[in-house]
Amino acid sequence: MNTLPCDLHVHTSASDGTENPAEVVEKAGKAGLTALAVTDHDTIRGVAPALEAGREIGITVLPGVELAAEEEDGEVHLLGYLFDPHHPLLREELARLEKARLARVERMVEKIRALGIPLALERVLALAGEGTVGRPHVARALVEIGAVGSVAEAFARYLERHGPAYVPRLKMAPEEAVLLIRRAGGVAVLAHPGLSRCEELIPRLVSAGLQGLEVYHPEHTPQMVEHYRGLCRRYGLLATGGSDYHGAGHRRYSRLGEVTAPDEVVEKMLALAGRTA
Ligand code: AMP
Ligand code: ZN
Ligand code: FE
Ligand code: FE
Repeated sequence: MNTLPCDLHVHTSASDGTENPAEVVEKAGKAGLTALAVTDHDTIRGVAPALEAGREIGITVLPGVELAAEEEDGEVHLLGYLFDPHHPLLREELARLEKARLARVERMVEKIRALGIPLALERVLALAGEGTVGRPHVARALVEIGAVGSVAEAFARYLERHGPAYVPRLKMAPEEAVLLIRRAGGVAVLAHPGLSRCEELIPRLVSAGLQGLEVYHPEHTPQMVEHYRGLCRRYGLLATGGSDYHGAGHRRYSRLGEVTAPDEVVEKMLALAGRTA
């Protein structure tokens, strides 16, 4: 069998990646990937520049997004692929998430200031730059002013779930995320199920229109891969995969193309896309 490697889970500076979309696409070309999906958290701002870079370099770039959804005492991530980036409902939902992220960071900064730490909201926003703002930027701003010694300490002392400055992020229900992706003509895939302990969720999501599981992921053990491959067969789901690359220098470092899916997965996704739920 002659398959070509495709990385279907990649972050850019449009969310919390350290490299901009054009840089990531260029790296993918050099790494010998034939297709790449840009899957930033809650935003598709990186998609257009990545598509353009893909056309220049001659590799296939798939529009993608990674949506966080609320699950009892935790979250699960849904990957959407090949949706219409101009779909009004999708754009409206993403705008709502963006506004909510901003309001949430404002509240976290207020909580930190109430603890007597003179953290400036402007600095937090400046650190986020073009990307979606979140706890990592609050953490870095805390390091800058010397309130903590490291990002890890900022999380441990203030920002972790149940921490004194924690504010939950606005999230949809997992079924809603699946439906949103499908309505926008996309293919809905459950991201890294091995990281989210969400076994009982899978049949529910299949009923809601889920079309794939991210079987191949850097943090999945061979046992998990085997297990999720079995579930894909059982439910008739696509087995996708990717590196969850966040750029060199990111805490969650994986190499671009470290984990890939075969190009036949992309062909199958193209065949599924556009069939709205
Ligand atoms: P947010 O989306 O604003 O809730 O922030 C989530 C991000 O914070 C994740 O993508 C991680 O990269 C980062 N993060 C979560 N926990 C930690 C931690 N203990 N240390 C450093 N970064 C973390
Ligand atoms: Zn991330
Ligand atoms: Fe994720
Ligand atoms: Fe991710």
